[in-house]
Formats: sequence, structure tokens, C-alpha cells
Amino acid sequence: MRSSEIRQKFLDFFKTHGHTIIASSPLVPANDPTLLFTNAGMVQFKDVFLGQDQRSYTRAASSQRCVRAGGKHNDLENVGYTARHHTFFEMLGNFSFGDYFKRNAIQFAWEFLTDTLKIPQEKLWITVYAEDDEAADIWLNEIGINPARFVRIDTMDNFWQMGDTGPCGPCSEIFYDHGPDVAGGPPGSAEAEGDRYIEIWNLVFMQFNRDSGGELHPLPKPSVDTGMGLERISAVMQQVHSNYDIDLFQDLIKAAARVTNTQNLEDNSLKVIADHIRACAFLITDGVIPGSEGRGYVLRRIIRRAIRHGYRLGQKKPFFYRLVTDLCSVMGEAYPELPAAKERVAGVLQQEEERFAETLEHGMQVLDNAISKKISVLDGETAFRLYDTFGFPLDLTADIARERGISIDNEGFERAMARQREQARAANKFTMNEGLTYSGNQTVFHGYNALQHEGKIL
Ligand code: ATP
Ligand code: MG
Ligand code: MG
Ligand code: MG
Repeated sequence: MRSSEIRQKFLDFFKTHGHTIIASSPLVPANDPTLLFTNAGMVQFKDVFLGQDQRSYTRAASSQRCVRAGGKHNDLENVGYTARHHTFFEMLGNFSFGDYFKRNAIQFAWEFLTDTLKIPQEKLWITVYAEDDEAADIWLNEIGINPARFVRIDTMDNFWQMGDTGPCGPCSEIFYDHGPDVAGGPPGSAEAEGDRYIEIWNLVFMQFNRDSGGELHPLPKPSVDTGMGLERISAVMQQVHSNYDIDLFQDLIKAAARVTNTQNLEDNSLKVIADHIRACAFLITDGVIPGSEGRGYVLRRIIRRAIRHGYRLGQKKPFFYRLVTDLCSVMGEAYPELPAAKERVAGVLQQEEERFAETLEHGMQVLDNAISKKISVLDGETAFRLYDTFGFPLDLTADIARERGISIDNEGFERAMARQREQARAANKFTMNEGLTYSGNQTVFHGYNALQHEGKIL
């Protein structure tokens, strides 16, 4: 079953059960300046859950584009290392705003997985929050889950909260067992970190309101928020373990191999590039442009990581922007805003690639030189020089170092950064006082607007 079909089946299922289908909102949240990117389906409904916004419906379902590459949820460092994490993914979700609660939410999820998708029951594991007897009772006695595959979790992993105060409540998560060929233990066990048991669906029961004293008060109208990763459920349905082996990713990996002239389709860099083109293209579609701070800097970091993986595959010329067309073929139908912005997206990417190409090769030489000295820790001065002179964000250098099995002296980097900040401050003061601009030794002064990220021109 293709992932586009799974997405459609999900929406159809919930439509049949009285849900209004709502389009994905953009990756830049409209109503929450504190949130870097939309990282879950519930984000566009936050004010509805808080009772500050009214809708004409009490049940909704969506397929929401999400990015987890900064802020509270950051999976950037997992990409290329786990089978299940992306910077960009699609979250299928159903929501109840004071309408149904635990019983229906659990029944819907179970029916969709085992009846609509026909997933064998014995492959599914269920977790609930340790204190949530109500959910445990529904799973064990109404659905009839085998207690051998049922786990009570007493950590905050199974308790969700919007913030330090406000709506919160227990979660129930559904895991899929990919079988004994994959390392890892069941949820809640000491070996749970592995990738054998993969979380596919999280059901959040918004049950309480936490006050400023930390006390929990029952909400008059409890609500439901759920999220299931489309790529993870597609892996299950396509009987592959890794998300990167699903149809949607395979098309992108082939395209990445084509534009980087790579023969080996298993090369990890292709997975990273395939992941990153989705995040970057959709972020630009939604109005983010590469820059030196905030959202723009996260985007720049992801683009530069992708470019460096291309470089690792031997690409020294811009290649990344060429994937936009392929991405439109794979995802344009589900997200028409992408093809509509295609030319602009490709242009922004190409420009950023050309910009980084000027310093990438030289920076790589500096880094290779340092690493060739058989070090186990890269010194902070070099990491800072790469950042300062060659535009290597620290996480990019760390990504390369990790590949080569070495770490980075982060404190040394911070010290070098602090020193540079001090100098920049002094220089700024000088030019402001004197009303001078300067282009010192080989340095082009870009004006104050460019001095954004910690006083640094990137
Ligand atoms: P994990 O424990 O595997 O990191 P999570 O508990 O952080 O997942 P939730 O916040 O519960 O994930 O999000 C709901 C669902 O979204 C998850 O059950 C999963 O299917 C999917 N999901 C979460 N993060 C990612 C990601 N980085 N890439 C792909 N799918 C994801
Ligand atoms: Mg996570
Ligand atoms: Mg989890
Ligand atoms: Mg979860």
C-alpha cells in the first residue's frame, strides 16, 4: 500500500466517523511566536484546546506537515542514525474538542490499525501512563489486549503537557514490533532504545488543567489529540523496517543518487539528503529563508548539512536545488502549495548552495588537516575558525566529527565565540562613534543588518 493511499485511508476513516478534514497548516505557526516550527498536528488547534477559539466542529482530522529540527523537539541529530526519525515528517492526527474521550479514541485507533489496515494484533504493543487505570481498563477489558504486550509507563514519556501550566494528561502509545532481526527491547524495558519496537501512534488524553501551583484540576470537557507518523505506518504496511525504505523515500533517494552521481543506493548520505530536501523545500514554501538567526538559521544549517553530504559523495557544484522537481512529483499532489512555490524554492536553495560552495572546500581541507593528526577531540579554536571563516555551523562540524568517531571541544568553541563577540562589540562601537565603515584586511563589511548572529556575519 503506497503512503499516499495510507494518508487517504486515514482521512477517509475519520471522516466516516464524523470528523471534519482540515488541511495541514504551514510550518511557521500562525498563533505561537514561542514555537519555532509546527511540530505536531495539534499546533493549529492549540487555541481551540485552550478554549480561546471556537470552531464549527468538535471532531477533526488532518495530515500535518511537521518539522522537528530545533527547540523542544529536535530530531536533527537522529537523522541518518535511526530508522524512524526525520527532520520533516507527516503526522496523521484525529482530534476531539470536548467531544469523545478515551474510549472512542482507543477504539478508533484499534479499528483503523487492525481492521482498515489489517495489521496483525500480535505485532502491536500498547503503553499507558502508570496511573491511568481508565485507559488500562479499556485496552485490557474492552479491546481485549494481551497483557503480555501491555505496559504501564511511569515516566513523563506517557504524560503530555502543553507547558508548565495549562492542559495536560496521560498518553497511550501504540508500538509495532519489527521482529527479532532488529535489536532493541519492548517499550519500558532497559533495552527500549533500540529500533525493534517502533512507536507508531500517540494518543493524548487532555484531562487536566495544571495551575500555577502545580495542582491538577479535571477539565470540564476533556479532549483528545493523537499523532501517527505517516512514514512509520507506511514502513509497517510496506513490510520494511526503515522509514527510508518506503515508496516515498525510495523515490527521493533515487533522485538524490541521480543528482550526485552515486551508484550505491544504500549510502547513508543519500538518506540524509532525501530527508533534508523535504524539510528545506517545505520551510521555504512556508516563508522561511536561510539567514543567520532564528528559523532562518535552522534552515541554513539543514541546507548546509545536505550540501556537505553531497560533497562527501563528490559533488562540488550545486545539486540540492535540482531535487525540488522530484519532491514535487512525490508530494505535490498532497501539498499543492509546494509545486506552486517550486521556482522560488529552487532559486533560494541554489543561491544558498552557491554561497556555501565558496568556502566549503577550503573549510573541509582545514578540517581534514586537523583530523588527520589522529586526534580524538577537535579543538574549539578550529571549530570556531570553521564557523567564523568558512560558514560551518557548529552542528555541521559535529556531524562530520561524529562520522569520523571524534568529538568537539564545545567549551573551547564557546570561549572563542565569546572572544570574537567582545571584539565585534568593540569594533562596532568604534565604527558607530566615528561614523566610519571599513573593509579591513580581506574583510568586506556587510553593514549592520548583516551583523545578526551573535555579531557574526555568516
Ligand atoms: P519517538 O519516541 O520515536 O522519538 P515521539 O514520542 O517523540 O517519538 P510524538 O511526539 O509522540 O513522538 O509524535 C507522535 C508521532 O509522530 C510518533 O508516534 C511518531 O509516529 C511520529 N514521529 C515523531 N517524531 C518523528 C520524527 N522525527 N520523524 C518521523 N516521525 C515522527
Ligand atoms: Mg521523539
Ligand atoms: Mg516516544
Ligand atoms: Mg510519543
